[in-house]
Amino acid sequence: MSEVVQDWRDKKLGARIRAALWLRDEVGEGGTFSKQDLRAAVQGKEQVDRRMRDLRPAGWVIKNYRDKPSLQPDELYLEKIGLPIWEKEHRAAGLRQISAKTRRFVYERDGHMCRRCGVGAAEAYPDDPDSHARLTLGHVNSHKSGSAANAEDLITECARCNETVRHLTGVQMGREQVWDRVKELSRKDKLALHAWMAGDVRPITPVEQAWGMYRQLPAALRDEVAGDLRALLQG
Ligand SMILES: [Zn+2]
Repeated sequence: MSEVVQDWRDKKLGARIRAALWLRDEVGEGGTFSKQDLRAAVQGKEQVDRRMRDLRPAGWVIKNYRDKPSLQPDELYLEKIGLPIWEKEHRAAGLRQISAKTRRFVYERDGHMCRRCGVGAAEAYPDDPDSHARLTLGHVNSHKSGSAANAEDLITECARCNETVRHLTGVQMGREQVWDRVKELSRKDKLALHAWMAGDVRPITPVEQAWGMYRQLPAALRDEVAGDLRALLQG
C-alpha cells in the first residue's frame, strides 16, 4: 500500500482539506498567518472563515488577537493541529452533523441567547445598535470522526462571537471604554462579572431562559402569555 502525499495546491481537494494541508505545511503548530495568506492560497474568499471554523470541532486550535494578546488584529496563531482531516477516516470529523433535536435542545438550554456576549436572537448589540444578532451553534469540544455532536459539545453563540476573526469594520472597543464601565458597577455586579470572565461564558438565569423562550413565540402568542402573566401577578 503506497502512502499518498497530499498537497494543498491540488485543486481537486476540497477547500477545507486544502486549508488544513496549507496550515500543516506552510504554517505549522506555533506559527502565525493572516487570513489574507490563507485566502491567497485557497481560493473562495467568503469561505475561508467558514473553513477555519469547520476545523475547530476536529480539534484544531486557531487563536486570534482577542484570545492571544501578543497577536496583531490581522494575525492568527495555529496553536494545535487537530485530526488529519485529509485522511479518509477523518474526513467527516467535526462536520456539522447536528440533529434537529440536539439543535433545538441546545438553543432552549441556552435560553436562545449567545453564551459568550449575552445577546438574544435578533436583538441589537449594545455596542452596535444597527446590527442584530443571528444565533448559531459553536463547538466547545471536538467530536469524534463521523459521529453526531452531542449537546455537551455545543454552545449557543451569535454569529459575531462565532467568527474566527472579527470583521475589522465593526465597532471596536477600547480598553479604557470597557474599564470605565466595569469600574462603575456595584461590588456585587463586579463579582458576578469576574465569575463570567473566569468561565468565558455568561450563565443564564431561569428568568432569562423564560424570556428567551417567550421571544421565540409569534407575536399573537406572546401577547397571550404576557396577558396571562399580568393576570397571575394581579390575582
Ligand atoms: Zn455573542
